[in-house]
Amino acid sequence: MDKDQLAILGGSKSKTTPFGTGKRFGEEEVKELVEALEQNTLFYHSGRKVKLFLERFNALYGVTHSVATSSGTAALHVAIGSAGISVGDEVITSPITDAGSVIGILYQNAIPVFADLDPHTYNMTAETIGARITPRTKAIVVVHLAGNPADMDPIMEVAREHGLIVIEDCAQSYMTYYKGRLVGTIGDYGCFSTNDYKHISTGDGGIVVVNSQDETDFQRTHAFADKNYSRFGNQVNRDMGLLAPNYRMTELQGAVGVAQIAKLTWICDQRNRYGDQITAGIQGIPGIMPHEVTVDSRCTYWFYMFTVDPDVFSCTRDEFAKALQAEGIDCSAGYIAKPVYMQPLFLNQEAYTGSHFPFDLTDIAYSEGLCPAAEHILKSAIRLPVNEFFTEQDRDEVIAGIRKVAAHYKKSELKV
Ligand SMILES: *Cc1c(COP(=O)(O)O)cnc(C)c1O
Repeated sequence: MDKDQLAILGGSKSKTTPFGTGKRFGEEEVKELVEALEQNTLFYHSGRKVKLFLERFNALYGVTHSVATSSGTAALHVAIGSAGISVGDEVITSPITDAGSVIGILYQNAIPVFADLDPHTYNMTAETIGARITPRTKAIVVVHLAGNPADMDPIMEVAREHGLIVIEDCAQSYMTYYKGRLVGTIGDYGCFSTNDYKHISTGDGGIVVVNSQDETDFQRTHAFADKNYSRFGNQVNRDMGLLAPNYRMTELQGAVGVAQIAKLTWICDQRNRYGDQITAGIQGIPGIMPHEVTVDSRCTYWFYMFTVDPDVFSCTRDEFAKALQAEGIDCSAGYIAKPVYMQPLFLNQEAYTGSHFPFDLTDIAYSEGLCPAAEHILKSAIRLPVNEFFTEQDRDEVIAGIRKVAAHYKKSELKV
C-alpha cells in the first residue's frame, strides 16, 4: 500500500497508537482533602488550605497579593468590580475567548468593546486596542489565548497613556512568560481559572492576582469576592457599602489546589515543549501557518492552533480537518463557533431579559465584520489538543499526519 495515501481514502493512518494519557489527581490530592475535612471547617477564612494554595501560588509567581474565587469568571468579575468599573463604562476585550471574559463586565453594567486580533498569535495588539478607545473606555481585559502572551509592553504603554486599568485574563495561560515576566503580573490584575479543563483543576475555582502594592487595593479586591465583607485577622466588617457577589473558594477546592500547584511547573514545561516541537515540525509547509508565539516569550499551549491558507490547498479547512481526523489525529476545525460579538446577547443587545441596558447608554453596534482578522482565524484555524501526557511518538505522528494531508491537497500547479 502507498504510505502517502490518505487514511480518509483508504490508506494507513499516521497515528498508530492511542495518545498518551495519565492521572491528574493522586495520593497528594487525597491527603490534602482528608486534612481539609479534619480541620472541621471548610470555610476559607477559618481553614488553612485556601490560604496555603494562595501562598504557594504567590511564591511561584513572585507576587504578594492574590484572592481565591469560585471560578475564573468570578476572578474576572472580582477584578473588574473592585477596580471600580461601573455603569456605562466601556471595557475592551478579545472576540475570541471564553464567555467568562465578558460576563463580569456585563454584571457591572459596563459595555464590552471588541478589538481585533493578530492573525497568527490570536491576541489583541496595542494597535487594535488603540482603535477602540473612546472617552468611555475604562479598562482592557487582555486575553492571553491558549498559553500565548499578548505583546504587553506596547499594550501597557497605550493603557498608561489613556489611564486605563489592565486586567490580564490568564485562564488559559499558566507559567506563560512575556519577555521574562510571567503574564498575570504585568497589568493591574491577573485572573486565573482552575476549572476542570485548565492546566490545573480544582473542579472549579479561580485566582485574582492584585499587582498594586497598595494594601487597600488588595483589601478591596478580597472583599469584593466575599459580599464586600472585610475579613482581616479577627475583624469582620459587614457594612454594605457597594454591591458585591459571593464568589468564595471552599477549603475542598483549596486542598486540591495545594496538590495541583506542585505539578504546575512540570505540566507547563511539558506543554511548552510539545507545542514548540509541533511548530518546528510543521514550519515551512506551504499553506500552513503555525501557532506563532509572541517574540521573546514562552507559550504553555492550552491548545495548539494553526491556520491553513485556502489558496494553497485544493480542499477546504473543514476537509483538511476531516482528513487529519481520519489519520487518527485528534483535532477540530476552528475554536469557538463565532466571535463573541456574534452571540445573540450582543446582536440583540439584550443581557437582561426585556432590557437593552446598559447597551442603550451608548451607540455601540455589534455585527459581522467588526473584527475581520478574528473572523478569518475562526474560519481558517485547525486546533490540536495539547496534554502534558502526550508522548514524543504522539508529537511525531501528529507532525507526519499534517505533512501527509498538506502534501496530498497541495494544488498541483503549486507542486514543484
Ligand atoms: C476558562 C476561561 C474563563 C473562565 O473560567 P471559568 O473557571 O470556566 O469560569 C475565562 N477566560 C478564558 C480565556 C477562559 O479560557
